[in-house]
Amino acid sequence: MNPLQQQDPEIWDAIQAEAVRQQDGLEMIASENYTSLPIMQAVGSVLTNKYAEGYPGKRYYGGCEHVDVVETLAIERAKKLFGAEAANVQPHAGSQANTAVYLSCLEVGDSVLGLDLAQGGHLTHGMKLNISGRLYNFHSYGVDPKNHRLDFDQIVSLAREHKPKLIVAGASAYPREIPHDRFAEIAEEVGAKLMVDMAHYAGLVAAGIHNSPVPYADYVTTTTHKTLRGPRSGLILCKEEHLKLVNRNVFPGTQGGPLMHVVAGKAICFAEAMTAEYKVYGQSVVDNAKTLAETLMAGGLRLVSGGTDNHLMLVDVTAVGLGGKKAEEVLDACGITVNMNMIPFDERRPADPSGIRIGTPALTTRGMGTEEMKRVGNWIVKALSSPDDGALHETIREEIRVMCDAFPVPAGRVATAQP
Ligand code: PLP
Repeated sequence: MNPLQQQDPEIWDAIQAEAVRQQDGLEMIASENYTSLPIMQAVGSVLTNKYAEGYPGKRYYGGCEHVDVVETLAIERAKKLFGAEAANVQPHAGSQANTAVYLSCLEVGDSVLGLDLAQGGHLTHGMKLNISGRLYNFHSYGVDPKNHRLDFDQIVSLAREHKPKLIVAGASAYPREIPHDRFAEIAEEVGAKLMVDMAHYAGLVAAGIHNSPVPYADYVTTTTHKTLRGPRSGLILCKEEHLKLVNRNVFPGTQGGPLMHVVAGKAICFAEAMTAEYKVYGQSVVDNAKTLAETLMAGGLRLVSGGTDNHLMLVDVTAVGLGGKKAEEVLDACGITVNMNMIPFDERRPADPSGIRIGTPALTTRGMGTEEMKRVGNWIVKALSSPDDGALHETIREEIRVMCDAFPVPAGRVATAQP
């Protein structure tokens, strides 16, 4: 028996059950992925014991000589991976990264443009209950009702009208490539700074498949755990001239001590993302998404914007007589994990919207390819067409479990990466 199992069997059992769930089902939440075992080892390492307020070489605690090595490596690798002038690797998560950037370039009450949450934006892009919407005067832009692509006529006109100090680009549920150059042109015209939150597609940028925001944006923020495939965390890239303020607004502005075990995991993730193998991974994520999208559409489902250019798609399940909540539950019963999601111009509520969001990053990490995506797409179509057929859902679940055996997740059915 290992120490965790022995000391705290309740927690052990829950982690073990989660390991089995991750191996036996299809994880299709677009923002999730499986880290490598080395990253899990770093995140479960002794670095969790160390306080290191400050930055490498300038800490407020003794004994930081080894964590300084770790953080310096993480910074240098992040800069190299994305071709950025400067990096802060301490944000605990994407939300903290965004908040620290806002504190760096905005005063309370300043005008900001961001993508509407209901049309694919993120909470931290001005949602009323979020700190972003409470402190700043966000104006939301959206997508064109005809093609569901970002509506640049509207973005230009809002920018001219509100003269924002900052324009935020990036999205949580947008299935198309984001043209950073167009945002940069608009920001320049109205004298705004540009922040790109590439949390969802950072891995595709790293693999050279999605255009990079780094040449265009004053600030680039990201999570590290989605397509990028690192530990759950955040990262800020910026121009050298902004680094001093960014650093000050991460620590002490919004955080205390960095999570050095996670910083180590990020350093490993950045190195992994520079390999040739990772480039192949990024391309496969997109190829898989395209194949899955085509299969779903061939099966009669309607996709927002008519397809995908990236790692995710939004399916309007009202076209088959369902709400998003029910569709999520039906797929869950089959061993397919997705999340319900608002679609542009949704007439339903966030708690039971019209859509589901489906992504391919995690399945691609398992080595699944386009043949598997066709099978997965057909299972989804079948299940959503018979939402109350429990026996069918059980059969699909078993077929999926068998397929999953051929594509082990990095940790297998083992709960932790430690020996
Ligand atoms: N930004 C975008 C675009 C996101 O999609 C997310 C998470 O879903 C975040 C920021 C926030 O990340 P976190 O959950 O790590 O705070």
